[in-house]
Amino acid sequence: MTAPIPTSSRKYDLNFARWVRDNVEGGNKMNMCMQCGACSGSCPIGTEMKDGPRKIFMMVRAGMKEEVLDNSTLWNCTSCYRCVVRCPRGVPVTYILQGLAALSAKEGYAPKVSNNYFAKFFWMSTAKLGKTDERLVTTAYFFSFGLVEGVKRSLANLKIAFNMVKAGRMHIGLPHTIKDKKGLAAILEKAKEIEERS
Ligand code: SF4
Ligand code: SF4
Repeated sequence: MTAPIPTSSRKYDLNFARWVRDNVEGGNKMNMCMQCGACSGSCPIGTEMKDGPRKIFMMVRAGMKEEVLDNSTLWNCTSCYRCVVRCPRGVPVTYILQGLAALSAKEGYAPKVSNNYFAKFFWMSTAKLGKTDERLVTTAYFFSFGLVEGVKRSLANLKIAFNMVKAGRMHIGLPHTIKDKKGLAAILEKAKEIEERS
C-alpha cells in the first residue's frame, strides 16, 4: 500500500524527499544523481521548462514539495527518454518526472487547462499517426507563437531541417504512419474510458 503523502506547513519538508524515494518509481535511484546536468542539457524541450530535471531533483532533496509539484517541468516533459539514455548514473529521470506529475495531479497542483502547445501537437501527431512527425509538430509549435514568430523560428531552423533530411533523419513527403491505426484508436478509446472511470 502506498504511504500517505506528507502534509506539512513548513516550506522545506524533508519527509517529502523520503516519500518520493519510497513511493515514486525510480525515486530510490535519485540519490545517485551527481547534479551533472546532462539530463537538462540534452532535453529537447529544456528551454520550455521552468527548471528542468536536474534542478527538480535538487529541489526534491531540499524538500521543496510545493515548488516541485507546482512546476511546469513536470507537464512539459514529453517522455522522450533522452535524459535516461544520457544520464551517466543510470537515474530513471523520466519515470521520476512521471511519478511526480501523477502526485502533482493527485494533490491538485496540475494545471486545469494546459497551455503547453508542444505537448498538444506532440500528442495530436502521436494519436493520429501512431508516430511523431517532427515536421508537423515543430511547424505547428512555431506558429503557435503567431505568424511572424512562426516564420522567424522556421527560418532559423531551416538549416537543421536540411541537414536532418541529408542525414536520413527526416523525410520529405507524406507523414509516416503505423499500420494498425484502428488498433491504436481502440487502445486510446479504452484508456480514455478507464481514465474517466477513475
Ligand atoms: S544526468 Fe543523471 S546524474 Fe546528471 S543531473 Fe541528470 S539525473 Fe543527475
Ligand atoms: S524525457 Fe522529459 S525531461 Fe527527459 S529529455 Fe525527454 S522531455 Fe526532457
